Amino acid sequence: MPQQFGPEPEASGAPGVPQSTRGCAVTLETFMTYQTLYRKYRSQTFSDLVGQDAVTRALQGAIATGRVAHAYLFSGSRGTGKTSSARLLAKALNCINRAEGTAEPCNRCAACQAVTAGNALDVIEIDAASNRGIDDIRDLREKVRLAPSQGKYKVYIIDEAHMLSGDAFNAFLKTLEEPPPHVVFVLCTTEAQKVPLTVLGRCQQFPFRRLSEEVVAARLAQIAEQEGILIAPEALALLARTSEGSLRDAIGYLDQLAPLSTGQIELAEARGLLGIADPLAVAQLFDAVMEGKAHDALHSLNALYEGGVEMRPLVRGLMERCRDLLIRAIDGREAGARSRLSAALDALLHLDGEVRRHAEPRFLVEATLVRLAVGSAGDNGRDGATVVIAAAPAPPIVIEKLVVEASHIAPAAARTGTPAAAPPGPLRVEEPAALPVAIEPRPAGGVEPAAAGPIEPAADVMEAWKRVLAELRPVVRGYFREARPEYDGTTLVLWFPYAFHHKSALDNRAAVEPLVAAHLGASVTLDLRLSPGPGPGASPPDRTPAPEEHPLVQEALRTLDGRVVHVRETDLQ
Ligand SMILES: [Zn+2]
Repeated sequence: MPQQFGPEPEASGAPGVPQSTRGCAVTLETFMTYQTLYRKYRSQTFSDLVGQDAVTRALQGAIATGRVAHAYLFSGSRGTGKTSSARLLAKALNCINRAEGTAEPCNRCAACQAVTAGNALDVIEIDAASNRGIDDIRDLREKVRLAPSQGKYKVYIIDEAHMLSGDAFNAFLKTLEEPPPHVVFVLCTTEAQKVPLTVLGRCQQFPFRRLSEEVVAARLAQIAEQEGILIAPEALALLARTSEGSLRDAIGYLDQLAPLSTGQIELAEARGLLGIADPLAVAQLFDAVMEGKAHDALHSLNALYEGGVEMRPLVRGLMERCRDLLIRAIDGREAGARSRLSAALDALLHLDGEVRRHAEPRFLVEATLVRLAVGSAGDNGRDGATVVIAAAPAPPIVIEKLVVEASHIAPAAARTGTPAAAPPGPLRVEEPAALPVAIEPRPAGGVEPAAAGPIEPAADVMEAWKRVLAELRPVVRGYFREARPEYDGTTLVLWFPYAFHHKSALDNRAAVEPLVAAHLGASVTLDLRLSPGPGPGASPPDRTPAPEEHPLVQEALRTLDGRVVHVRETDLQ
């Protein structure tokens, strides 16, 4: 059986860490004998395995009593010990010295040592990400029947199992239905929901939990001590926190920091490696946003970016600051601050999700912070002319390409945040999609742009709904302005085209209800619903659709799993 080793997701693959910082003055000899700390400290016994007590106990019980299943599914986020546990299971099953009724492998016999070294003939690791086709599984089905070459069991560890194709899963299912008695399958996956139910039903499922910061920090401290690495406790805690429950990532960070330091590794060095901003700078940035100082906020953000700060941890830092202030506002019963901070936290949560999906998320962060700052400036209630940035009439659109970055939004985002380009006074920005279009000064009063399409409910109800919208805070209005109102005399039904807006609207219901009562009558009930598809009746919306809402664009987005980053006007007739 040829051994198949997929590219091991080792510590150096940890996200967001500049690789160039690793020390490069290593001789060839040290390079060749160097073993990453993660590999060196991989658990070799069940008692070594940290943070997965329930799984460990269950596996040990199965091994000790000889009730080992034919197929296991180890699911959980990355770096939580799934593959290590699978190898331990394989090792224990084939250990020559393991006494009956016990579960720990001896780690001394030839079989144990072969597993540790990664060259055991009866432990076959398959990386489903690169061997996902039906031919690979057919090949596996042939070889599964052959007896183990040395030990009692053949253990197949299928990493990233959710990556197998549908055909491959079907073929694999046949093997799972009648497994040869000497075979144990361990499917490891970070996305168990993508594994077909027919396969899940044939596996014993073990969920691996994210490790707590304390568990990760304790294990790091242990390794640092054994390696003679001096590290400040605060730096250790930062590594643990940043790893988000992945021991592999945390040990990888330690591995990268160790050669950089001559004495004790301090907090500042750990921050530098991880691209994490000083909390004081993050607090200043957030305060500038909430004080409506968009220009200052952009300036601070740029300084942090230039200093090597990564956007993901920065957004997390902003969320932490926001949450702390929110808790303070709740304790102090400051209703105004509470609702503004809660809306900001909503926006940051959304941004956090977006930032994870993009390679260069700086401009997403810029756009969100500017929007929040501009909203805050409006909320802070200064007098003066109100500027409404209105959506331009839908231009004819040409789909050129859908690029997975947001660089084109930046100039517009920066422009709206710079006092030089916009008249002084509160700005009201409707939505990020409305940023790259003309700025149209309007008289004071904050009246919404007039509805363009036919009006469905009675005109006075539409007018009342518009007054409700106009009185909402900009962030909350952003969620509600997409909704299509229907009114039957007692209930105002708002149909939301997007799940995110619908969810956010539900969360902000309390902000809207009093306004609905004031403008439509106290007896009116509010019903927030998510539109199925294009919405009931699919009547034309009461506003000009944005170009990115064009069905062709929507279809392209779905097909390519993309998103709109740039809308450009053309003179196509
Ligand atoms: Zn052994």
